[in-house]
Amino acid sequence: MARLAILEFPDPRLRLQSQPVEAFDEALHQLVADLFETMYARSSLGLSAPQADFQRQVIACDASGTGQAQRVFINPEIIASGTPGYVQETCLSVPGRKGLVKRPTRLSVRAQDTSGQPFTAHLQGLEAVCLRHEIDHLHGILFIDRLWLLRRLGIRARTYLQQRRAG
Ligand code: ZN
Repeated sequence: MARLAILEFPDPRLRLQSQPVEAFDEALHQLVADLFETMYARSSLGLSAPQADFQRQVIACDASGTGQAQRVFINPEIIASGTPGYVQETCLSVPGRKGLVKRPTRLSVRAQDTSGQPFTAHLQGLEAVCLRHEIDHLHGILFIDRLWLLRRLGIRARTYLQQRRAG
């Protein structure tokens, strides 16, 4: 097992689209083990492969933070989400920043396990929020892109410009 180096904002590699996993081999098992080791070493509840510069759709989560609730999601696909709430988020790839993000607190996903076996999971609370954050990483999205305040300010700025243009 090895601890992995984490890419940090504004590294452009964090913006890449991760590719689906096709080979459920020893290299994948090693990557998953390394993601968990790195995640626990950095006191995080989740870590995605692209944060460690592997642009593959692999996510490790443990909402307990203690090793009691380890979950792996490979090639995850959201099939339902709901009950939005505002959650204070941080990210190992955006050190020193935190902010309120609107996230679903219920999430249903289809994914594969480390042997390629498909499964469906229905998550809620912290597990749902955590997985949604990590799925964003697979698509090059960071939580700072979803900051509530930033969005509101963005909307206000656009409205102002439209009014100016109209006037
Ligand atoms: Zn993150």
